[in-house]
Amino acid sequence: MSRRPTFVIIGAGLAGAKAAEALRDEGFEGRVVLIGDEPQRPYERPPLSKAYLRGEASFDEFAVHGADFYDAHAIELFTSTRCTAIDPAARQLSLDPGGRLDYDQLLLAPGATPRTLEVAGADLEGIFSLRSLATCDLLRAGLAKASKVAIVGAGWIGAEVAASARQMGKDVVLVEAGEVPLERALGVEVGRMFRDLHADNGVVLRMGTGVESFRGHGVAEEVVLSDGSSVRADLFVVGVGVLPNVELAREAGVVVDNGIVTDQYLESSVPGIYAAGDVANAWHPRFGVRMRLEHWATALNQGPVAARNMSGREIAYDQIPYFFSDQYDLAMEVSGVPTRWDQVVYRGDPRSRELIVFWLADGCVVAGMNVNVWDVADDIAELVRAKRPVDLKGLADPETPLSSLISR
Ligand SMILES: Cc1cc2nc3c(=O)[nH]c(=O)nc-3n(C[C@H](O)[C@H](O)[C@H](O)COP(=O)(O)OP(=O)(O)OC[C@H]3O[C@@H](n4cnc5c(N)ncnc54)[C@H](O)[C@@H]3O)c2cc1C
Repeated sequence: MSRRPTFVIIGAGLAGAKAAEALRDEGFEGRVVLIGDEPQRPYERPPLSKAYLRGEASFDEFAVHGADFYDAHAIELFTSTRCTAIDPAARQLSLDPGGRLDYDQLLLAPGATPRTLEVAGADLEGIFSLRSLATCDLLRAGLAKASKVAIVGAGWIGAEVAASARQMGKDVVLVEAGEVPLERALGVEVGRMFRDLHADNGVVLRMGTGVESFRGHGVAEEVVLSDGSSVRADLFVVGVGVLPNVELAREAGVVVDNGIVTDQYLESSVPGIYAAGDVANAWHPRFGVRMRLEHWATALNQGPVAARNMSGREIAYDQIPYFFSDQYDLAMEVSGVPTRWDQVVYRGDPRSRELIVFWLADGCVVAGMNVNVWDVADDIAELVRAKRPVDLKGLADPETPLSSLISR
């Protein structure tokens, strides 16, 4: 008797879970196996630095699907199971625990792992990183006992944890090598807005300084900064970026370069092996570059596109990148990626914290961030998609509808 076609997804996060759902939506009738090394069913990570960290949300509110979804859709969810090797020639996986599993098509969605600091004392107790529910639970328990928190890294995770810790009544020191928070994501000029936001909310900012070491007796007691000063705290959080989980792919001979390299259909260098989410460095046909985006929306949307292509479709992934963040009473969305720009245009007063910021290159919008202004992300994405010079006066004028500026 011939084996039923089997599509396997490695990584039971947002990209993996949405891909499994899409395979069934596409009408795929073979086996769908979703393999994840965490004990829980798939969940979304954004609440881990926000509402869940503060004890204001429960797991069920951010699980990707209800508990009975997987059985109801005949999706075999293997939790606490790690894929340890891929043999592309035999189309076979090694699992721990669980032996071997044959596959016909494979999606790699293993996400990313936080970077660690290679400094003395980095392995002391009381230094936390944040990625999974398990690491969040540890951090939550630590925060409950701490009154002073030092956070190393003012990227998205560091900035959001700083905001949550302040909202929980902790004294917070935020240490960052760059000039301002979120410098790498938004640039210095817009990053200043976030510097002021955190300062106004009582965070002590130590910008422009790296970390030399952590000191303590078994448990971290202070972080020594590159200017020679030190910051004492009860708890430390390190948020200095993530590395894509590429080892499995690399060992299987899949081309890896800042993530798993894919074409616009999210297929890797090995036919029948796809990648999605934080791990995928995917060719973006609209921008003509490869992009690896560590964004919730990318995982949400790439998973299903990869799944549909595994089922025989040919859909290019060409969505405009989208990211959101919440810090204190500031909620924002970014459409596009501000990697290269020569002009910043404000639609509203930057000090008001209710505005839209546009990054432009050669007169064209490359990205836009709406801050406490809603229902504009689609229009901003259209402005980015258009790649045409835009009327600057209209862009800066809150009374001019954004939709009127979009040239198609
Ligand atoms: C604390 C936090 C807050 C965030 N907040 C925001 C936000 O506000 N806005 C935003 O846009 N994005 C945010 N993000 C980013 C967003 O959550 C990620 O982009 C998204 O989770 C990526 O999804 P993924 O499915 O690619 O990877 P993941 O969610 O990481 O899922 C991958 C899964 O695969 C598992 N895995 C890895 N290797 C194996 C293996 N060999 N075998 C089996 N399983 C394996 C991993 O353990 C993990 O469970 C946040 C991320 C974090 C950590």
